[in-house]
Amino acid sequence: MKIAIIGAGPAGMLAGGFLSSNHEVHIFDKNEKCGKKLYITGKGRCNLTNNCNKDEFFNNVVNGKKFMYSSINQFSPEDIISFFENIGLKLKTERGNRVFPESDKSSDVIKALEKFSKDCKIHLNEKVEKISKKNEEFLIKTHKKEYLFDRVIISTGGISYPLTGSTGDGYKFAEEFGHTITKPKPALVAIELKDWFIKDLQGISLKNVKIKATSDNKNFEYFGEMLFTDKGISGPIVLTLSSFINRANEIKLFLDFKPALSEDKLLSRILRDVDQCKNKTMSNFVSLYLPKTLANIFLKLLNIDNQQKVNSFTVKQREDFIKLLKNFPLTFKNLYPIESAIITSGGVALNEINPKTMESKLVKGLYFIGEVLDVDCLTGGFNLTQAFSTAYACSHNLT
Ligand SMILES: Cc1cc2nc3c(=O)[nH]c(=O)nc-3n(C[C@H](O)[C@H](O)[C@H](O)COP(=O)(O)OP(=O)(O)OC[C@H]3O[C@@H](n4cnc5c(N)ncnc54)[C@H](O)[C@@H]3O)c2cc1C
Repeated sequence: MKIAIIGAGPAGMLAGGFLSSNHEVHIFDKNEKCGKKLYITGKGRCNLTNNCNKDEFFNNVVNGKKFMYSSINQFSPEDIISFFENIGLKLKTERGNRVFPESDKSSDVIKALEKFSKDCKIHLNEKVEKISKKNEEFLIKTHKKEYLFDRVIISTGGISYPLTGSTGDGYKFAEEFGHTITKPKPALVAIELKDWFIKDLQGISLKNVKIKATSDNKNFEYFGEMLFTDKGISGPIVLTLSSFINRANEIKLFLDFKPALSEDKLLSRILRDVDQCKNKTMSNFVSLYLPKTLANIFLKLLNIDNQQKVNSFTVKQREDFIKLLKNFPLTFKNLYPIESAIITSGGVALNEINPKTMESKLVKGLYFIGEVLDVDCLTGGFNLTQAFSTAYACSHNLT
């Protein structure tokens, strides 16, 4: 059969490699090279999967858990690791079971996939503009030529980081074939805040803190690292939170700077410290608990003069200080724009796709794989796992 794959990202290249052993496969990409987004993954190191079992994978799927069962059972994280090792890419597992190439170079993952898909005809710098069905065949119009194919696989990715080529074209192709698109939203993205003090905090990073959010009567809590940006907050726990609140309406955010200590324990510690630092200024005292800039903001919010001596720290001020340490309010403005999101949430509606084969239920011979689908996962190599796993399922069940 003659098969067209639209998009030479990880999903397209893997599917192409498998299919080219039995079929004539053409991969189209509008970029000048393959895997442009893959190149920037994992800060240039490419966290290509997670060395975890299937249950752990599903725990990291935000949308599309049920849909992913079949493909993960066909090609699990463990299978992905074996696959890459078998094609000659040495891997290593780091903290959080994140799997990287031993060389720390995403370009080595791209090279391995290019080698694996070497029997495909790769059309670079060739943008697909329209796909239509002519009887049993598909007519593909690129900005250069027209082609006829028996099967078409759409692996055009999402709409985030558009400079890498993922500009949402797959959604347009899908809609033209009658598919429903779940509105794309940014996921794994920083959060913009309205608070006056944000600019002062830019660059400060925090470890072992908890971010808490309430939205539409749901509560979320994530513990770990975060940082302040020019307009808000980012870092691992913020990115995770963003994926759960990107469709919510009313969002309230709080930081717990001392999640390991209950209010009572915190009070005992404060009393002990007060006793030891009676003649210090409040500015120095609060800095025992927080980075200096944040400590000054605390004092402003608490209406405490930073030159006040610790020995005049009142009971009420102490209570307010504890409250602020445990529930520091942040005012949600927006998620950062989708252009800066690591992943797009939303995409081709899953109830219109066969989860075993990735074939459209509406159009025979048309397939969707990778990020163009309405599946999104958390960080840790899970999104590339989704791309590889759906690509495998498609290429092994395409009829
Ligand atoms: C900064 C960043 C870091 C990331 N790090 C990680 C990580 O470490 N681990 C992880 O698991 N995930 C990571 N991701 C997510 C991961 O990159 C994506 O999940 C993955 O690339 C999706 O693969 P895909 O093949 O579906 O689509 P893409 O990689 O987006 O590829 C789609 C391809 O289709 C091409 N295309 C689109 N439209 C057309 C058209 N009309 N004609 C021709 N070609 C077209 C594009 O040029 C592109 O090359 C990261 C994402 C970003 C932005």
